Amino acid sequence: MTDTESGLWSDVLGQVRLSHPALVRGWFSDLRISRVDGGTLEITSANRAQCRYLQQHCQAALTEAAQAATGRLVSVNIETDAEDSADFDAARSAYGSVDEQLQLNPDCTFDNFVVGPCNRLAHAAALAVTEDPGKAYNPLFVYGPVGLGKTHLLQAINHRIRERNPKTKFHYISCETFINRFMEGVEQGALHQFRYRYRHVDGLVIDDVQFLAERERSQEEFFHTFNALHQSQRQLILSADCSPSDIPSLEERLVSRFKSGLVALMDRPCLETRIAIVMKKAKLRCIEISEPVARLIASRIDSNIRELEGALLAIDALSQVQGGAITLEIAQEAVGGEPLRPVTISTILDIVASRFHLKVSDLQSKKRSKMISHPRQISMFLARQLTPLSLEQIGGYFGGRDHTTVLHGSRAIAQQAEDDPQLAGVLEELTVELKNAPG
Ligand code: ADP
Ligand code: MG
Repeated sequence: MTDTESGLWSDVLGQVRLSHPALVRGWFSDLRISRVDGGTLEITSANRAQCRYLQQHCQAALTEAAQAATGRLVSVNIETDAEDSADFDAARSAYGSVDEQLQLNPDCTFDNFVVGPCNRLAHAAALAVTEDPGKAYNPLFVYGPVGLGKTHLLQAINHRIRERNPKTKFHYISCETFINRFMEGVEQGALHQFRYRYRHVDGLVIDDVQFLAERERSQEEFFHTFNALHQSQRQLILSADCSPSDIPSLEERLVSRFKSGLVALMDRPCLETRIAIVMKKAKLRCIEISEPVARLIASRIDSNIRELEGALLAIDALSQVQGGAITLEIAQEAVGGEPLRPVTISTILDIVASRFHLKVSDLQSKKRSKMISHPRQISMFLARQLTPLSLEQIGGYFGGRDHTTVLHGSRAIAQQAEDDPQLAGVLEELTVELKNAPG
């Protein structure tokens, strides 16, 4: 990059930081402008996950910033010079599609993962698997409540394996996608392709296998996929929001296979680990905070790590509005203040669970009885009304459900409440209770 290009890049970055702080990541400073050509500015990233992140989330922000920085109507082109380009193309032709790989979030690496007593075993096992896939622990099964880093760890394994050897075919896929692909395969009479795709890999990483609950045909297919890979010593890594034996109506033969390797719990992090996570997230997003500020955030929020991130962003936003550094006072105001720290999902889950005499884990489970699914939909409705979270984020708190499920659930409740004054009353009471609940 020439001096002019690097100067231009700092201007563009500065603009993005001002207008879209939540999008910025620490590695942005490693990006470079590879070409400025007429009306196009080309930005090159080091790997495909970063490239994908930029294309999916930052295209508009970067274009806007580049236009502001150059004063011209330029467009922005995002490229990667990842070494595995050729292999990627080969994989694309072998699989027909490698879209699952593209789901990897560039933030979810081992470097960005904080190890504490709550996740030490899972982390060590994940690292061991990357050292010697198919040999150390097979399968590796990690489980724990939502928002505690299971997806992060699974994706970190994939990133590491790809870094080590771009030719290794490690597939990361959510169990929901696996099931959907299987159903498509059945409907289109294309089971052969489906099987080829998932059985000819060096490793298969399947997130949220609790989705197999009560799905007989998918369980059957999963069983054979599992066996095909396991017998030829290829690595399997699975996650779920509960232990194998607690997944509702999971066939015994699958339960025993899931338990046959290493089963590691990921538990709620202690205060020290939460502080370290807040510091790590701040660094990742180029937000400067002191240890006391991190401690304040971590001591207020003690369950779900997604909420720690939300609080950090709220504080950053408030400090930007006030045009200064993040002080303890600003943090206090943001974390304590109503508009920036509205009702949290954990509070919604606690209050709805207690109102309907259920456990929070029931609301997050896949159980479909009306006694549970109705309060679950109510929780989704309240989450949409009272929190700033997106449908996808809300789905994440309900065992990794799809955004359409959340949309459907909350719409159903809104509609029912129109004809059912009793339900409308319950919603109103819950809303008042939630707004007055301590944070
Ligand atoms: P889960 O899959 O268990 O529901 P995720 O992996 O999606 O949870 O984690 C939720 C958020 O918390 C992500 O942004 C993730 O990066 C972060 N996170 C969770 N655990 C850790 C950790 N130990 N270190 C750093 N970030 C973490
Ligand atoms: Mg997850």
